[in-house]
Amino acid sequence: MTNADVIIVGAGPTGLMLAAELRLAGVRPLVLERQPHRRDTPKAGGLGGQILELLRYRGLLERFEAACPGPPPAPRFPFGGVHLDFTQLADPPLHALPLPQQLLERLLDERAAELETDVRRGHEVTGISQDETVVSVDVRGPDGPYRVRARYLVGCDGARSRVRDRAGIGFPGTVYPEVNRLAQVTLPDSVTVLGNGDLDVPGFGTVRAGFTRTDHGLLGLGSAPGATSVSLYTIEDESVEYDDDVPMTVTELQDSIHRVLGAHLPIAGTTRLSRFTFKARQADHYRKGRILLAGDAAHLFPATGVALNAGMLDAVNLAWKLAADLHGRAPLGLLDTYHTERHLAGARTMLHTRAQVALRRGHDAAAEALREVFQELLGDEQPLRRMGALVAGTDLRYPMPGSGHHPLTGTFAPDLTLHADDGVTSLAQLMHPARPVLLDLAGRPDLREAAHDWKDRIDVHTAKTGDRPADALLIRPDAHIAWAAPVGEPAGTAAPALREALSHWFGTP
Ligand SMILES: Cc1cc2nc3c(=O)[nH]c(=O)nc-3n(C[C@H](O)[C@H](O)[C@H](O)COP(=O)(O)OP(=O)(O)OC[C@H]3O[C@@H](n4cnc5c(N)ncnc54)[C@H](O)[C@@H]3O)c2cc1C
Repeated sequence: MTNADVIIVGAGPTGLMLAAELRLAGVRPLVLERQPHRRDTPKAGGLGGQILELLRYRGLLERFEAACPGPPPAPRFPFGGVHLDFTQLADPPLHALPLPQQLLERLLDERAAELETDVRRGHEVTGISQDETVVSVDVRGPDGPYRVRARYLVGCDGARSRVRDRAGIGFPGTVYPEVNRLAQVTLPDSVTVLGNGDLDVPGFGTVRAGFTRTDHGLLGLGSAPGATSVSLYTIEDESVEYDDDVPMTVTELQDSIHRVLGAHLPIAGTTRLSRFTFKARQADHYRKGRILLAGDAAHLFPATGVALNAGMLDAVNLAWKLAADLHGRAPLGLLDTYHTERHLAGARTMLHTRAQVALRRGHDAAAEALREVFQELLGDEQPLRRMGALVAGTDLRYPMPGSGHHPLTGTFAPDLTLHADDGVTSLAQLMHPARPVLLDLAGRPDLREAAHDWKDRIDVHTAKTGDRPADALLIRPDAHIAWAAPVGEPAGTAAPALREALSHWFGTP
């Protein structure tokens, strides 16, 4: 007897995204979150990369855009001490949404509620065990301890994942001895913001706008004449392992500034205080039996701006596979492709974020030269686009059987403009329900007929598109192309290949 199909530990962005995707797939998740309320510690300032396209494919992007407190920033992203500047490109390969994490979590929470998800806050998971058929979970709730069971459990419980530890999954990697502190502060009258943005600090003198590097670290100051607050940023080499969920204090910030600059900076108030450290760790397995990991529990990257993208995309990849298994329709090995595909994606993100560490950390003339050469290369469109796709996570092609047959197989489906009798105008629209889709772009009754036996689990659509990339596309719920029929491929070849792909991904009919 189980209490839910899937227990999700943690109601951060990964856990909430997973819950919503599971609900769309007709599964009953139970989300257990130890914090009694949604967190108000500032973490990410925004969301970027392929997840934005996925949110659009779920019909959610407009809602997320409307909740942003400010307009989208210019498409310019830091990359290990240099910049990816897409402002000259009409179609930048990387986009960001300036949606602070607290707002993101609120929206995901609302979405989970709309889909009638059981989210229990103030319920901490204290123990886990699994056998061949169920996972049992010990919980400490507001009314005391209790036990729940489910067919699967997913640890979306962040960097210090207890699920990962209890499951005995290794988390090898590196902790870089570097702490970054970020703040938006108001200053007392004793500190003057000069016309050029510099600060005049009593008893110290001038603190320059921009970056000041000392033997003890780096201080960044961003201020505008007449503005009521300034932004401050420090980077120091420290070997302390901080818990990102423990908020930073004003005193911690002032102490850091004092160490870097040798000056005490009086601060009147703060609107944002956050600290982050750089770790490069990746779980060596994303699945152990009935226990799976996603998000920060599975990977930590040593650069900003990529973790939410990776974690929420883990959730999207995992949900439909879990659902297929729970509905008894998963072909052999389907759930294991979660590890294969998302570990690969994580390794790719690790590759460029580690490269960013190497680019960023050196302070000598050789390091400066490396950054200059790299920045010069990024002035050319081709390397710039390539780096953008790498950071966005859109250059990834999942390994798939028969993927040599068509260049689109294994990639994220492009949002084609469609002309269809049923009023559908884009591929994105077809993905709103998060179901597999066979999209017939060439009026191919042979292919629609071949898919007939799977009609209970895939949606078949016929449409036209200009300059069609294939005669038909078989698209998984995570918007990746499982199979594509080359233009003009004869029925004798295409229909059996389609049936093979349908069985491989969606089980025998
Ligand atoms: C200062 C800062 C800035 C950042 N900036 C960015 C950025 O610009 N872009 C970006 O993409 N990422 C950024 N990140 C990273 C981003 O915040 C994380 O990647 C993201 O929060 C991970 O989401 P998650 O859901 O996987 O884990 P978390 O957000 O850590 O959520 C885990 C949840 O699990 C709960 N939990 C833990 N243990 C238990 C238990 N035993 N029982 C029940 N519940 C439990 C926790 O309370 C928590 O709510 C930043 C992080 C920090 C600290």
